[in-house]
Amino acid sequence: MNEWDDLYLEVILDHNKNPRNNHELEKHTHHADGHNPLCGDRVSINILMDNETVKEVSFTGSGCAISTASASILTETIKNKSKYEIENLFKDFHDLVTNKNEDKKKLGKLAIFEGVKKYPARVKCATLSWHALMAALEGEKETTTE
Ligand code: ZN
Repeated sequence: MNEWDDLYLEVILDHNKNPRNNHELEKHTHHADGHNPLCGDRVSINILMDNETVKEVSFTGSGCAISTASASILTETIKNKSKYEIENLFKDFHDLVTNKNEDKKKLGKLAIFEGVKKYPARVKCATLSWHALMAALEGEKETTTE
């Protein structure tokens, strides 16, 4: 284990143990359920949009540590961002975990998930909440990583 692996594990375990924004959102404008059949992860995303900006976001569901931590960090990351900013962020995040993008600086805390690129099966765990988020923003009700 090197330092990077230690940091990666520490952040994942922290967010898995104490997920942020892990509750229902009574007042929301967008909602979608995501399912990752490969691992069994389920994540539901709730968003309250004001025009094109995310005002509130929360998630519920159950899954492995990586999917839970990813959903938790996602909710911290996208608040007050526009749909356009989120689409770009998702593209950069997807590139990072599929090993196409080495520019980690603009991804902030999301860069921690670079570790999953070594484990292709885990990429879907890390991106599930993002797929659910994009589905919600598009007005769809459910999505899967397949
Ligand atoms: Zn998983």
